[in-house]
Formats: sequence, structure tokens, C-alpha cells
Amino acid sequence: MYKGTLDYAQEQDKKDKLAYLREQFHIPKDKEGNDWLYFTGNSLGLQPKSTQKYIQQELDDWAKYGVEGHFEAKNPWLPYHEFLTDSMSKIVGAKPLEVVVMNTLTTNLHLLMVSFYQPTKKKYKIVIESDAFPSDRYAVQSQLKFHGFDVEDGLIEWKPREGEELLRIEDLEQIVSEQGDEIALLLIGGVNYYTGQYLDLKRIAEIGHAKNCFVGIDLAHGAGNISPELHNSGVDFAAWCTYKYLNSGPGSLAGLFVHEKHAKNKELPRFAGWWNHNKETRFNMRQPFDVMEGAEGWQLSNPPILSMAAIRASLDMFNDVGMEALREKSERLTGYFEFLINQIDTDRIKVITPSNPKERGCQLSIQVQNADKSLHKKLTENNIITDWREPDVIRCAPVPMYNSFEDVFKMVEILKSLL
Ligand SMILES: *Cc1c(COP(=O)(O)O)cnc(C)c1O
Repeated sequence: MYKGTLDYAQEQDKKDKLAYLREQFHIPKDKEGNDWLYFTGNSLGLQPKSTQKYIQQELDDWAKYGVEGHFEAKNPWLPYHEFLTDSMSKIVGAKPLEVVVMNTLTTNLHLLMVSFYQPTKKKYKIVIESDAFPSDRYAVQSQLKFHGFDVEDGLIEWKPREGEELLRIEDLEQIVSEQGDEIALLLIGGVNYYTGQYLDLKRIAEIGHAKNCFVGIDLAHGAGNISPELHNSGVDFAAWCTYKYLNSGPGSLAGLFVHEKHAKNKELPRFAGWWNHNKETRFNMRQPFDVMEGAEGWQLSNPPILSMAAIRASLDMFNDVGMEALREKSERLTGYFEFLINQIDTDRIKVITPSNPKERGCQLSIQVQNADKSLHKKLTENNIITDWREPDVIRCAPVPMYNSFEDVFKMVEILKSLL
């Protein structure tokens, strides 16, 4: 059982087998040199100290070899993206064939919709969550428009019930059983960015596939946070950014997953560039386009190596630790956070994230009645970095890689004093 004392929190940190990882990150500090209490790893993960070395290696090889670095660099640039594939596929529970690192998240969603949103006059609608991340909403709206459909008519929102915050899978089931003949695509955030709810991807895939809809998952808030078992879930495609829980730096490249069942389907509509052309003949330059199998068949351009070096630094850490150990700590750390929040003696506070650890990652979304953004400002003045969502929600992510039980304890003490 948890205890709400500083001693207890520090004792947990001493017992924590992953506590050594915090030392491997740059933790931002205030002017006096005190560590910030950083709870926004769900927005921009902190920088691993090793990142600089990984990027420096590529800068050095560029200086030394120029274009020859594509072959001569210590980590040759030509196949560089392949160095990321194994670790990335483990993180999301996929086969290496199904995963590639490329582009950025919203771009990947569009490229995937080129293939998996194939509307007809009768079957053209897209289902998203009502609290979908704005970029995802804009992306599907623009796809509807691009194909000549009315956005109001074409976009179906899966909403929480009146008076509730969380989504119920049976409501999605009902939408799809009633309107499935008109629905072409479900595009759902696997872990909702606002509530932190982790949805049952396998169920979503079954529901969509029962009515011949394609099913895609945005894993921006899932990758490096929960273990989504993408392959076994059966979803058709997924995409995620790497700068949140995967600590790869602002605006860094994204991941893309296409299920093995589509790996050899060369008939899927898709856009092309030289980087999804057959590796064997890519540099002959005059060959007719010959698309690669698997997720690599969605690439277009030769990728930015410096960004990939940062991703590699981070993935090497994830690989060493393993998602299982991270999840184990994450459940305890977030459980402790929830325990402390629930101990605060006020009815102004409500955690809207599911209380079942299987239905969430590390994030808790804390609703504070009658609060406004000044609360967030005061938290920031106290070195507590959180994310504010109008009208009244603080999103906090204690990240198992670098947050401590003591961070969580101190954060709740200060929150309590501000209420
Ligand atoms: C962070 C996030 C994005 C951001 O998209 P970019 O293309 O990387 O700018 C999009 N969707 C979701 C669900 C996110 O959490």
C-alpha cells in the first residue's frame, strides 16, 4: 500500500531498479540549480545525455567523408533507417517488416490515408474520437474535402456519453453496426491525448473489419508509453511521433506501421519517390518504379540522418531497459500519483483518466473545478512543468525513464497548497 510521505517516496526511489536512468538525461533546472519537476514527457521528452554523441558521430563523418559517408560513415547513411527498425518494432509490438521511421506524424497519416482511405460514393465516412488531437482532425477533414465529400456529413465522432469523459467501446460498436456500410475508415488515437485513455486496439480493429472498414491508429501518446502489440491487434496501419515519450528531440521523425497482411500488396494506391523504390535498382535511376515490400514501401525521400541519430540514441536506451520493465515502474509511479491526488481533501479535483492501469499509460489528466490558467501559471512558477488544456484540465505525465517518486510527491504537495 502507498503512503503519502516524503520518506516513503524517497524509499521507493531507492528501491527502484530503473532509478539510475534519470542520471542519463538532462533535467532542466531553475536559476538556483534545482531540478524542474518535469511532467511533460508526453509533449516533449527530455534529452538523453548520449544524444549529443550520436549526432556528433554523424557530423564528424559528414566532415570527414562528404557524400562518401553514405557508404563510409561508421553507421553508413544509405541504410541508416534500418538501424532503427528492430528496436522501434519491439517498442510497438510489430514485426520489423511492418515498421519504418520516416517523415513526421501528420505527414505519415496523410500518406497512409492515400492507401487506406479509398472512399466510394457509398462508403466514404471517417470515424474519429470527438477529442481527437487537432492535427488528426484537420488531416481527416482535409482528406474528405480532397475527395470531394462534405466534411459535416463525412466525419463521424465517437463521443463520450453525456456527463462522462471517457469513451465506451460499445458506443463505437453501435456507430459501426449502424453506419458501417457508409464508413471507409476508423482513425483513432490509441491513447487519447486529452484523457490519457488507452483503448482496446484489437477490439477496435475487429469492430471496423466486421464492416470492411480500414482501421488506423495514431500512437503519438502510446509509443514508448504503453505496449500496444500492433501486429496482434490486427489494425491496418499506425503512425506516431518520436519526440514525446521516445525522447528524440523537437520535431524529430515519426514511425509508421503497416500490417504484414498489406506488405506485399503492390496494388494499394500510394505515392512514390525514389526511397520506396526497390533498393537493388534504386541508383540505376532509369528503372520503372518498383515498390518495396512492407512499411519501407511508404518512404519517399532519403531521410535526415541527424534526426535519426537522435532517435537511435533514445531507442538504444529503450532497447537496453525493455518496455516490460518500464511499464512495471510506470504502473507503480502513476498509481502513486493517483493515490496522492485522491488523498487531497477537496471535491474540486477529479482524475478523468481511467483508474484501471490496463486502460492508461503514465499520463493522468486532472480536472480542477473552478480553476483557470492561473493555476497552471502558479505551478510553473513553482518549477512544475505540466500541460494545461482548456477549460480546466492539467495533463501530467510521470515518465518512468526519468521521473521519480519524489517528483510526484513534491508535485502533489505544491498542487495541494495552491488549491
Ligand atoms: C503530438 C501529436 C500530433 C503532432 O503531429 P506532428 O505531425 O508531429 O506535428 C498529432 N497527433 C497526435 C495524436 C499527437 O499527439
